[in-house]
Amino acid sequence: MKDLEAQLNIEIQKRQKAEQMFGGLDNVLKMLAMGDSLKETLEKLIEYLESKLQGVRCSILLMDNSGQYLLKGAAPSLPKSYCDALDGFLIGPNVGSCGTAAYKNEMVIVDDIETNPLWADFKGLALSHDLKACWSTPIVNIQGKVLGTLCPYFSEPRSPSEDEIQATQFAAYLAGIAIQFKGGEVALKESETRYENLFGQLKSIMEGTSSETGEEFVRSLVYNLALSLGMKYSFLGQFKSESIQTLALWAGDKFEENIDYDVVGTPCEVVVKEQKNCLILQDIQKEFPEDQLLVDLGIQCYLGVPLLDSSGNSFGNLVVMDDKPFADNITAEIILTIFASRAEAEIERRKTEMERLEAKELAEKASRAKSEFLARMSHELRTPMNSILGFTQLLALDNENPLLDYQKENLDRVSSAGNHLLNLISEVLDLSKIESGKSDIDMRTVDLVPIVDNVISISHAIAEQNSVSIKYEKIPEVSYFVEADSLRLKQVVLNLISNSIKYNFTKGSVVVSFEKLMNGNIRLGIRDTGCGISDENKKKIFKPFERFHEDLEAIEGTGIGLAISKQFVELMGGAIGFESAAGEGSFFYVDFPISDKTSLPVQEEKEPSINQSRISENQIKKKVLYVEDVPANVDLVRQILNYRPNIELQAKY
Ligand code: ADP
Repeated sequence: MKDLEAQLNIEIQKRQKAEQMFGGLDNVLKMLAMGDSLKETLEKLIEYLESKLQGVRCSILLMDNSGQYLLKGAAPSLPKSYCDALDGFLIGPNVGSCGTAAYKNEMVIVDDIETNPLWADFKGLALSHDLKACWSTPIVNIQGKVLGTLCPYFSEPRSPSEDEIQATQFAAYLAGIAIQFKGGEVALKESETRYENLFGQLKSIMEGTSSETGEEFVRSLVYNLALSLGMKYSFLGQFKSESIQTLALWAGDKFEENIDYDVVGTPCEVVVKEQKNCLILQDIQKEFPEDQLLVDLGIQCYLGVPLLDSSGNSFGNLVVMDDKPFADNITAEIILTIFASRAEAEIERRKTEMERLEAKELAEKASRAKSEFLARMSHELRTPMNSILGFTQLLALDNENPLLDYQKENLDRVSSAGNHLLNLISEVLDLSKIESGKSDIDMRTVDLVPIVDNVISISHAIAEQNSVSIKYEKIPEVSYFVEADSLRLKQVVLNLISNSIKYNFTKGSVVVSFEKLMNGNIRLGIRDTGCGISDENKKKIFKPFERFHEDLEAIEGTGIGLAISKQFVELMGGAIGFESAAGEGSFFYVDFPISDKTSLPVQEEKEPSINQSRISENQIKKKVLYVEDVPANVDLVRQILNYRPNIELQAKY
């Protein structure tokens, strides 16, 4: 779970990062559209990149017409003397970072200029200008021809992160567009209109998708892409075992049902398997004759870009198609690439979210299974324990065959160990019932005072044994009615009071108090002068099976009492808490809202229990029907009832 949450956070950060990048992009594109000259445009692009990478100074060099020399382009933050020295140098396989990147048409990362052999002839120049690392990226046109290089420099040796590589390549991509349009390959007038269009299109897609997430995001993305690019079809697909499953499919005037189709022999195969953009300007059916979908829809042109996961593997594609030849493929490709990275972040976020939910469900299922197992086990253990304790008691009660003293002592030991075990089993059973949501709470209006009175009176014996005094701070003279399950409430109070005695010092004291709180709740408090709880243990006190006392062997307990108490109190709508200082003592309390009722409901008259009833020999005989699946238990009850001759047992098993 922790891993998944961490992954989810990374995805969220990634998405925020992607959004930050697009945020800045708005401005860059606007600048590109309005810049007068190529130099100014490139300078603005550098400003954008310098705002994204910490401590960077960038340079853009332009390829001359012969395709052999690099010329000064733009480098607003680098020293003029350095830029002048670079102007007009011949590219080659070992010529610094830029000369090599332009020559090989690939990114060249030099994390330490001083030691890198590519810089052997030029390092003096770089180091004298405090330049110690640089990562040069070729700038290419849409056909892949090198137009120049973009190079971030740093004054410390440094290698780039994934994000920094992406940001650099993205800026180089935009520089490529700028050079093509502003550098004279296309007339300036036309380029300005194109940039304005590009800016307008990006803006409308960004606005249309910015607030969406999940399915809404995918739908609004494909819709806005189709609309802005003037394409009839647009879809976002997920790639799974040789087929593409669309997550949203826009078809001219409406969303179509999502489809699942085989990628073999289709342009999508190129996109997802070769992980590259696929641009077909027209007559696509001739190139992919096996693709029946293209025929059915009458598709002529196609542009698809891959969607990559964080490890760089493609998991889908973003595609636009039309039944006419492509009108403006350059802006479409930029737009699609930009939005593919937004879609990647969103889809990965969704995937992680799904995985997180699945893992949560699995963990909950496992926890339910564990609780059910514990509940069953505890039940199975309790049945034989009852037999053990019952027969032990019978042996002790048998006046006709009295036990010898040492036998009585041994039997006492069996009884005491058995009771301890039974207690533990009952507590585990309680806890597992609460955890599996099967705990039966019988909520009624109850008076807190007699419950506490009763617990105090039964605790006197153990308090005396431990030489601990126990008393009320002030004897309660009124009733405090609360809504609770009286048995569970008594269990909680008993646990708190017996802890205050168990974890107390000899001659220590326990003081029980009632306090009406400002918020209308009643607080039952139990203050002791015992060993207290250290700050470190405070955090764990309500966790099951945590025990902290040094001399635990000597103090009976299971470490479950407080965990159960907390669960019960909360199930009954109350709150439990404590204050404690190690070595000084503790104050445990439970708070309950005071009930609106001012008296207890009339109690049904109860049958007297077997213990309470005094049955005379001449009373009418009564019958007890006992249905049981364990023969030993029937035997036990039969022997107990032998002491009650007026009761006739009928057993069924
Ligand atoms: P148990 O008493 O069976 O061990 P509990 O869940 O009631 O289990 O308590 C857990 C642990 O918290 C105890 O083992 C003890 O170390 C500590 N503790 C509980 N109540 C007190 C108290 N009043 N003073 C000091 N320590 C306490």
